[in-house]
Amino acid sequence: MANRQTDGPEGPDARREALNTRRAERRRQIRRRRLVASGVIMAAVIAVVAVIAFAGGSGSDHGLTHRAATDVTAGGKNGGSAGQGAKGSSSGKVRNSKPQPDWEPHAGPVPILEYHVLGTPEGEVPYPELYVSRPDFRHQLEWLDGHGYQAVTLEQVEEAWYHGASLPSKPVVLSFDDGYRPQFTFALPQLRKHGWAGVLNLKAEGSDLYGSNVRAMVNAGWEVAAHTIHHLDLTELGGEQLAEEVAGSREILRREYGVPVKNFCYPAGRFDDTVIAAVEAAGYVGATTEIPGYANRDAPYELARFEILGSSGVSGVEEDLASG
Ligand SMILES: [Zn+2]
Repeated sequence: MANRQTDGPEGPDARREALNTRRAERRRQIRRRRLVASGVIMAAVIAVVAVIAFAGGSGSDHGLTHRAATDVTAGGKNGGSAGQGAKGSSSGKVRNSKPQPDWEPHAGPVPILEYHVLGTPEGEVPYPELYVSRPDFRHQLEWLDGHGYQAVTLEQVEEAWYHGASLPSKPVVLSFDDGYRPQFTFALPQLRKHGWAGVLNLKAEGSDLYGSNVRAMVNAGWEVAAHTIHHLDLTELGGEQLAEEVAGSREILRREYGVPVKNFCYPAGRFDDTVIAAVEAAGYVGATTEIPGYANRDAPYELARFEILGSSGVSGVEEDLASG
């Protein structure tokens, strides 16, 4: 298999192993649910196709319905955070978009959290585990802040790793995949309350976000990273199509939003050496996977991430971070 997701970092200590086991089980659960969901749809078409979907791992997160997008106004009402000075203003750059006086050089590993939809699935949806409830999300941010973590962008981490820039003492990167509406309507204002920016791993075509949404995120200090054009399994593409998805998506985002787009995110975490070569050739500084663990400066194109799920809650985030 070309997929390296299963090559998790080897930790000598038992706690980490236990965690990895638990996470692996969780991932199997999701995959089972994904398979079940895709199976139901496919069965109506041809059984053979379902078998292919099974063999391929059905890892795409394309099938999410986006109804959560219509119920998003709650996240915009953050007037109560006024009075927190620079932290609380409702527009302009967030505090952490610039290095703060107490930040220091940092070359060590950094945890990256991976989110998809923020909200509660309405009715039957293909991958309910990819929905993190809004209260859970708020509590996770509050827990992070309360325990000294501060979110920065991956570009800021890379500036520290490779160019001597500074970071908060407990940096964390909050990444949001694909471009679901609540990432703009809810995550943006919630992160702003803490003075934080996130990383938007944006599908270049067919996301839920309007261009104006993405521009507002960029204006707040968010990083836009490429996540291909069509969200295909890159390990199954040939040279020209692979280059188009990897380099072409970067070009589209750069042109559209006037940002550097230094990082790439593998759809469904799938990559191999050929894919890495294409990512490197396209000029990216780094690329994020779904291998659980802390991201490390020595593996720029295999940056680990902790996938945060509907069942994670605060304790899941706490355990993930303790595993580093
Ligand atoms: Zn994705």
